[in-house]
Amino acid sequence: MVATKSVVIDHTQRDPWSVALEQFGIAADKLHLDPNMRAILAECQRELTVHFPVRMADGVVKVFTGYRVQHNTTRGPGKGGIRYHPSVSLGEVKALAMWMTWKCAVVGIPYGGAKGGVVCDPKTMSQQQLETLTRRYTTEIELLIGPDRDIPAPDVNTNAQTMAWIMDTYSMHHGYTALAVVTGKPLSIGGSEGRNEATARGAVYTIIEASKHLGIDLEGSRVVVQGYGNAGSFSAKLMAELGARVVGVSDTSGGIYSPKGIDPMRVDAYKRETGSVTGFPGTEKLSNAELLELDCDILIPAAIENQIGEHNAPLIKAKIVAEAANGPTSPEADRILFDRGVFLIPDILCNAGGVTVSYFEWVQDLQNLFWREATINARLKEVMVKSFNDVLDMQKKNKVDMRTAAYMVAVARVAEATLTRGIYP
Ligand code: GLU
Repeated sequence: MVATKSVVIDHTQRDPWSVALEQFGIAADKLHLDPNMRAILAECQRELTVHFPVRMADGVVKVFTGYRVQHNTTRGPGKGGIRYHPSVSLGEVKALAMWMTWKCAVVGIPYGGAKGGVVCDPKTMSQQQLETLTRRYTTEIELLIGPDRDIPAPDVNTNAQTMAWIMDTYSMHHGYTALAVVTGKPLSIGGSEGRNEATARGAVYTIIEASKHLGIDLEGSRVVVQGYGNAGSFSAKLMAELGARVVGVSDTSGGIYSPKGIDPMRVDAYKRETGSVTGFPGTEKLSNAELLELDCDILIPAAIENQIGEHNAPLIKAKIVAEAANGPTSPEADRILFDRGVFLIPDILCNAGGVTVSYFEWVQDLQNLFWREATINARLKEVMVKSFNDVLDMQKKNKVDMRTAAYMVAVARVAEATLTRGIYP
């Protein structure tokens, strides 16, 4: 069996909104942010809660709850994904919306931050039910969304098909085809080349920069990926393409480990066939918590929030933690990892490749002019490398951790835009 410590369950799981506020507060202190500015940026501008009925297969009507939150739209329209998950809450969606504000600012794309979610378990729902739920939820949040107002995208348990339904529903209501109302669409209806892999590709560009900075050779380095959805599975594949050895991956059913290395392409095929990564031939099974503590060089949390806390931060063995997920690490764990010399690439920087290529998709839709994949990837690389180095410079100048540095870059940009626009009326 793998040599991991006994796993302690974290009973102090933090509410994501309190985490987001604490992270913001640390950066605001370092920036000596004016108290009025602090008060403005610490709130969400708009929070919409909707309850809506969906007729299920057996004829029973079920009432679902959903949200769309715009944290801040000072630098441009709201932007951010929509997730379908049983644990979605207003606090979580608010935190995710705030993180989008900072994410768009840190990579310098002209958007504010927004997020949406529906409390549901898509794994137990048919395609038909998911389509009905999506179309009705779209109708309910149409108060807020639109190509110039707020542009959704995929997130946990939503995908290009979900975006197609949103685009179609919005277009039917408006009497014309509005390509730019969502991003992450299928290619056949105004999607962009490279959008599917963009979150992972962007994360890998930041890992390459981090490893240069730290003097780590990625060839043969050992990688562990938590989560095998869009961000996780593509991260594993791209790291393997770079010559790294993927020694552990996981999904909601658990993790798999092999010190000799796991072929992510074969895991993909296996998961498509069986529904999960566990049981993949030649691997040992372990829990998601154990997976995080594996001996490796690079750990990529690519699942959901609250994975690395006070209880397991001392047990993380990776040299680089690259947050492809949003909010996987608590502020307590940040301090522990920083003290232990673990180099963390924070979510608002690490996973910003997704929204960056969403921006490229939106620009292409508005112009009706589409770019080649090589152009997309080259522009994505330029954005990620520059943003990483902006954050690294801030980190060196202020001797703070990388998350605080990323927040300082982002919060300063949003504060400047707010000051420049002034307070209405
Ligand atoms: N859901 C992704 C994120 O958290 C993408 C958002 C977008 O493309 O708008 O960054």
